[in-house]
Amino acid sequence: MGRTSKDKRDVYYRLAKENGWRARSAFKLLQLDEEFHLFQGVTRAVDLCAAPGSWSQVLSQKIGSQGSGHVVAVDLQAMAPLPGVLQIQGDITQLSTAKEIIQHFEGCPADLVVCDGAPDVTGLHDVDEYMQAQLLLAALNIATHVLKPGGCFVAKIFRGRDVTLLYSQLRVFFSSVLCAKPRSSRNSSIEAFAVCQGYDPPEGFMPDLTKPLLDHSYDFNQLDGPTRIIVPFVTCGDLSSYDSDRSYPLDLEDGSEYKYTPPTQPPISPPYQEACTLKKKGRLAKEIRSQDCPISKVDKLTQ
Ligand code: SAM
Repeated sequence: MGRTSKDKRDVYYRLAKENGWRARSAFKLLQLDEEFHLFQGVTRAVDLCAAPGSWSQVLSQKIGSQGSGHVVAVDLQAMAPLPGVLQIQGDITQLSTAKEIIQHFEGCPADLVVCDGAPDVTGLHDVDEYMQAQLLLAALNIATHVLKPGGCFVAKIFRGRDVTLLYSQLRVFFSSVLCAKPRSSRNSSIEAFAVCQGYDPPEGFMPDLTKPLLDHSYDFNQLDGPTRIIVPFVTCGDLSSYDSDRSYPLDLEDGSEYKYTPPTQPPISPPYQEACTLKKKGRLAKEIRSQDCPISKVDKLTQ
């Protein structure tokens, strides 16, 4: 596979590089904003699960242009610095990371919390959906500590079997909860984004980091009436924008000659780095599969 084939297969990947975004995800946030005007009046924001940093780039550009913008970005992985973005490296499901984030907003709450977090996908759908839900709830827990009343929370969600439970939980805290699918998010992916506006926790609610919101000890009696909430589904991004499930020719509509653009910011310390180094040195252990072995060896192995 040549280095240009991904440009051809994934138009948003290519456009991200050409526009200086660190990842194609930037378009998801931009298309969500087209529909929901997420950045209007926002001066303080938190970007959870932020690496490599394209959402932080969007936030710092949009908020930075509105005066004294303030963005805090958090990820498990190290992230190359960005102007105007304060970075914390940590796990958002850990108490210590949550406390570190919260202390930046004491006395001066945030207008917007976004979370594009994704666990390492295992391929076991139930496990992946559960992990994703846990990440979203960790993000919501942090949001309940830092958001100002009326604030907004946007988080990646997997539209799996139990997604309605998550919607119900979000509806406890926000006056409006919608499920949005930007054009740049592939139809083939169960990913979507919960867009929660109007932060309005139940009366008497005291944020408590020691009690994760999915904990069954949490009192869900506040959910009067049908607990299953049907959340409206909205697609966003102009219909004329590129379809993320299609391949496009390398010379797009303006007819100019295609030139390969390298990634804006290669990952600075990716988790697969060690495997790549070992592979280059020919020291990466290979799985022995029976079809790779001569009969005699297979016999020996199975004896
Ligand atoms: N929004 C980012 C951007 O535009 O560049 C892309 C985010 S990427 C899809 C998902 C990120 O979630 C990864 O960088 C991963 O390290 C992070 N992540 C997953 N689990 C996490 C956790 N428990 N705490 C912090 N970050 C986490």
